[in-house]
Amino acid sequence: MDKNYKLDTLCVQAGYTPASGEARIPPVVQSTTFAYDKTQDMADLFDLKSDGYFYTRLANPTVAAFEQKVAALEGGACGIGCASGMSATTLAVLTVAGAGDNILTSQAVYGGTYNLFSTTLPKLGIECRFFDPDAPAAEIEKLIDGKTKLIFTETIANPSIIVLDFEKIADIAKKHGLLFAVDNTLATPVLCRPKEWGANLIIHSSSKYLDGHAAALGGVIIDAGNFDFKNNARYPSFNLPDESYHGLVYADLPVAFGTKCRAQMIRDLGAIMSPQNAFISYIGCDTLALRMERHSSNAKKVAEFLSAHPKTEWILHPSLADNKYHKLAEKYLPAGQGGMLSFGIKGSVEKCAAFMEALKLITQETHVADVRSCVLHPASTTHRQLSEADLIKAGVPHNLIRLSVGIENPDDIIEDLKQALEKV
Ligand code: PLP
Repeated sequence: MDKNYKLDTLCVQAGYTPASGEARIPPVVQSTTFAYDKTQDMADLFDLKSDGYFYTRLANPTVAAFEQKVAALEGGACGIGCASGMSATTLAVLTVAGAGDNILTSQAVYGGTYNLFSTTLPKLGIECRFFDPDAPAAEIEKLIDGKTKLIFTETIANPSIIVLDFEKIADIAKKHGLLFAVDNTLATPVLCRPKEWGANLIIHSSSKYLDGHAAALGGVIIDAGNFDFKNNARYPSFNLPDESYHGLVYADLPVAFGTKCRAQMIRDLGAIMSPQNAFISYIGCDTLALRMERHSSNAKKVAEFLSAHPKTEWILHPSLADNKYHKLAEKYLPAGQGGMLSFGIKGSVEKCAAFMEALKLITQETHVADVRSCVLHPASTTHRQLSEADLIKAGVPHNLIRLSVGIENPDDIIEDLKQALEKV
């Protein structure tokens, strides 16, 4: 596929190209394994000397089509399909960090990611050092030491809607020879391509906009192919032979991170994307460019309506001129600022519940970023494990309502919000 095609063309066409007479869209290869005539052919696959499939835990043609589509969209060297967004983040970290190491992470990340970093990874001996993404570079840099393996951030933070200052983080990462990872779930490559701003790893929960229909759980890690591990003292595991893989030295390979992630982590932890989910997610990506345009324009209209409403206390969407992140959004999200917004209802937590229960079109869901508009009260659901202080740190006050604006007619969405606010 010609890499110079525009992004909306890549959404539709990249990932799978049939040979003459083959199925036009990627078939669902629902098979755990693949049959061979010659022993040497299989041996070459195990030695990574040839491309092909031998066991779906390692690779599968339908999953590969999805991986290649997202890699093309992000301009990356390769993609790795995972069982979920959470497994994508977990596998990305474990590919570079082990007991005794640490990572730096923005404190404004999705609640599940926050939990992984604050509770589960420390149990494995990986310390996660949280920073305020708005802090000056010098303050963030203070957290880095010789054992730091990764800086983790989100392009648009869920649910605090903080837009990342890519250049600040990319400069820190470059200065210290550190991998820079970005969860690009809420922006998608249609609105922002983190590689163009210096990111080395791009992570998606494909359960969100990539699938777009709330039909398939999944995740993907994109190795941007722009990080040189060779002789970087921070990454001995990339520079020493991997005895579990015939003495392979990953830093010598053209796609070092992606190969290590698949050969070690996917092999050993097995949290792969299923062929069926890859198929659904692949089809979802076909319409991604169109959907992101509509999600963004609908959210802008809804944000303008809510910010003028007397019963709302505050509203966060980077399209609003008075939003703290408007300038960053103009720079990093010029084509649209996405469908996620959050706002505070004047008054108590009970008022939030009354408002949400009065909605008719918009449903209450844990999900975000699919075609249907939905709301959630994070402090009592996704973020309920956080203390009062940690809620504030994560940018989730008690009266925050997260609204994922779908692609319905904007007038109907606004009408529903209006009638529900009237009942508060
Ligand atoms: N990253 C972000 C920004 C998310 O919003 C989510 C889920 O909402 C995840 C990661 C986790 O993804 P999944 O639910 O597919 O495991």
